[in-house]
Amino acid sequence: DYPGAPDSTVVRLRLPRALGSGDSIRIDMEWEARPSTTPRRQGRRGRHYDFAHWYPRIAVYDRGGWQHNALVPAGEFYGEFGTFDVTLVVRDDQVVGATGVPVAGDPGWARVRRSGSVIPQASAYGATRADGAPAPSGYRTVRWIARDVHHFAWSASPDYLYEGAAYVREAGERLPFRTWDTVAVHVLYRPGDEATWGNGIAVNRTIDALRWLEQAFGPYAYPQVTNLHRLDGGGTEFPMMMMNGSPSYGLILHELAHIYAHGILANNEWRSGWMDEGLASYLTNWAQGLTAQERAARVTLAPPRRVVTGYRGNAHTYAPGDAAGLNLVQLELSGRAEPIGTISHEFAEFTVYNTTIYSRAEQMFGALRDVIGDDAFRAFLRDYYRRWAFRHVDEVAMRASAERAHGRPLGWFFDQWIRGTGLVDYAMEGRQTVQRPDGNFATRVTVTRQGELAHPMPVGALADGVWTIGRAANPTAERQVVEIVTPSRPEEVRLDPLHVTADWDRRNDVFAPPFGPVKVVPDWPFLDQADRERTVLAVAPVAWYSAPGGATIGARVRSHYLNLVDRHELGLAFATRDPGRRIAGDGRESGSTAVSRIQGWARVENPTLPVLSRPLMGHAAGVAVLDGITMLDYRRTWDLSPFTFARGPRIAATAGVLAAVPFDRNFLPDNWKEVEMTELNATASARIPLGRMPASGPAPLDTLRVRAAAMAGYLTSESGVSGDRGYGRLEAEAIGVKYAADTATALMLRAFAGWNAGTPEQRTLRAGARDAIETFSQHWYRPSDAILRQDAVNYLPLGGAGLRAHAPDVFLAGALAVNGEVARRLYQLPDSWGRLGVWGGAFADVALVGGRHGSSFANPLVADAGVGASLRGRLFDRAVRLRVDLPVFATHPGQTFDGGASLAPRYVITLEDWY
Ligand SMILES: [Zn+2]
Repeated sequence: DYPGAPDSTVVRLRLPRALGSGDSIRIDMEWEARPSTTPRRQGRRGRHYDFAHWYPRIAVYDRGGWQHNALVPAGEFYGEFGTFDVTLVVRDDQVVGATGVPVAGDPGWARVRRSGSVIPQASAYGATRADGAPAPSGYRTVRWIARDVHHFAWSASPDYLYEGAAYVREAGERLPFRTWDTVAVHVLYRPGDEATWGNGIAVNRTIDALRWLEQAFGPYAYPQVTNLHRLDGGGTEFPMMMMNGSPSYGLILHELAHIYAHGILANNEWRSGWMDEGLASYLTNWAQGLTAQERAARVTLAPPRRVVTGYRGNAHTYAPGDAAGLNLVQLELSGRAEPIGTISHEFAEFTVYNTTIYSRAEQMFGALRDVIGDDAFRAFLRDYYRRWAFRHVDEVAMRASAERAHGRPLGWFFDQWIRGTGLVDYAMEGRQTVQRPDGNFATRVTVTRQGELAHPMPVGALADGVWTIGRAANPTAERQVVEIVTPSRPEEVRLDPLHVTADWDRRNDVFAPPFGPVKVVPDWPFLDQADRERTVLAVAPVAWYSAPGGATIGARVRSHYLNLVDRHELGLAFATRDPGRRIAGDGRESGSTAVSRIQGWARVENPTLPVLSRPLMGHAAGVAVLDGITMLDYRRTWDLSPFTFARGPRIAATAGVLAAVPFDRNFLPDNWKEVEMTELNATASARIPLGRMPASGPAPLDTLRVRAAAMAGYLTSESGVSGDRGYGRLEAEAIGVKYAADTATALMLRAFAGWNAGTPEQRTLRAGARDAIETFSQHWYRPSDAILRQDAVNYLPLGGAGLRAHAPDVFLAGALAVNGEVARRLYQLPDSWGRLGVWGGAFADVALVGGRHGSSFANPLVADAGVGASLRGRLFDRAVRLRVDLPVFATHPGQTFDGGASLAPRYVITLEDWY
């Protein structure tokens, strides 16, 4: 019967009688196996065959009972150890590599040997009676024996070239299981690999990796190791053998590390991928000196800045390697992290699985090394190998070895990393330096835990150019004092100065109340800037013009940490002209004070609050006092996308409140009514990729974006002219963009429906523009007679019904609109600028409208059409849109910027786009 039914890849055989302990049974099976032409660990191309997972395997019975899961993409088979005696019948010209040693017949290596020597190790398991199994003519048989393996993989190709060598270990360590002082190294590569695999390159790298791993775990437990060039990319290990897609040293290290961790120390990959993938990844980096601990050992001061040339060189960015692990921080803060111990197929998506069991588990092994120390960590690996080789291992086995090496319980450590999610974050709460009678300086640092994960935090004091590192010895303490002694007064004291730990928030690693350490930089246009240890505070001048206030000048400061949290903006400017007195429509007269010439705004997004241990992700709020209006808003955003990393729809919902109160009519923009408004609003939007999603390479450009928005508010009028009333607006749009195969031609179609009632001018739906609240932060557009509102500048903040020939303040009661455009890329700017294209095209807009506020349309069917050019793409780190449209045709020319006839030359500039 089939325990995984309807899946039929796992079968249960009922025995005629129960087996006792030490009993055995012989089962004969016939089966057919054929590798697929699409390589996935196995595969075939021409007469090259990679056989993996090609025969019925026996399920493992362990602490958890029968483990009979089917083979799934995430996770590998969990196999029972045994002896394999395999006779392969192959064509005469095939060259074969396999798990085990060839005891009879010729694997074909000597015939295709390019260099080195062939050491078959045929008698590794003692003399075997070489039974000459008969082979049909044109075929030959090769018989292999492998002991203490849980899988048998093999590969054959007539094109393989062979290089081999003997790795001879110096006599020394004895293990409780058999090892071979001479290990044969076999490399099989393909024609064309001579310069990359050949000339001893792959052979020597395999030997180097073996030597490094032996000093980590102990002597290798098999008589041979084979490294061959498979059809699939990447790499997979099998006992005594790795099938690799490249000869890179990192890959060889990783796969050979797996022959230890997963091959000899056989964990259930499906339940505990972290035990082999995390450890193999950590060891790979360790061998190459790339772990945080090894990098820190080479660095005594802050690492050098990233070297970037050209305009980008102005940006202050992370030092090399310092951005590592930030994807894990982002995953955690987004609330989508899953514990390392999650069963592989239960991860929400493949990339979360990968990120977690490789990167986060690698981080975990680094943390374990910090907790138990270098010597104990080495002792742990050796104990783990010595005790558990050729057995099934699980977290209990690994933890027992770590605890033996450490001499103390580590349940807390494995619990927090394996079964929980969370962040490492420690803060320096206080520091005090005193000179001791012996002349040295003692610095006492109070360290408190802020994050969920406990860690023995290093604390450093920099004196005379050298960091002296102490450690918060009790990793599980919430608060402790660390003392560091230096020969002179320290210039700097900070937690984890060499960035060895996963501490995500390094702003609180120094004692710098109240706002934490700050890096002030010029806000270079179009560049992203970030710092691992400090808040980046980017300063830029701002200037704009308004008719009442004249030239208005000031400065804007934007700050953030890791481009992710505490995104703040603060602006202050002063109007150089006194607007004097202005008489309103109702005949009342008012003057402005100096105070209302001060323009200012502040925004926060994803803020950290002192009482909370984590930033409030998805929350944003702002206050603005601009042009005689006070505006307050708060917005909560939810990311409802089904996937975090995988390609798929991006779905978001927001809910917000907004209040706007005009207080100085002399400044009031000419598209604002003097009413107080309070509003609730909500939007839902989705960006859906269209077309076939390739497994790799660029995602399809074709997209469908849909958006729905609703707002409902109440307005009160001081003058009582328009009366107090409620208002509402609804709109929905769908935008589809389809590209031709060469991606240089695009077709855009937009459908829009909008309706509003009772809205004041600043919130009213417009024929071709976004409303005055949507454009409120645009200083060059908002104020009366602003630079972009001059008669000579036909600027349109494209939006509303999208009738782009029409002036911005053409109000509508409702509209059903279709906007279409065909565009062709005429020129692509060099990539050093980002990716910026110059596009040209033609457009047409058609709408059925209901006019409003004096925007009367003689005929409700409104249309325009024309040609245009745009600059579209990215300039350095920012998306850029600049359009110049020539709407030569308009059904209602009276509502256009320049009037004239239906067919007339006119132009419109916009900084928005629908692509
Ligand atoms: Zn791996």
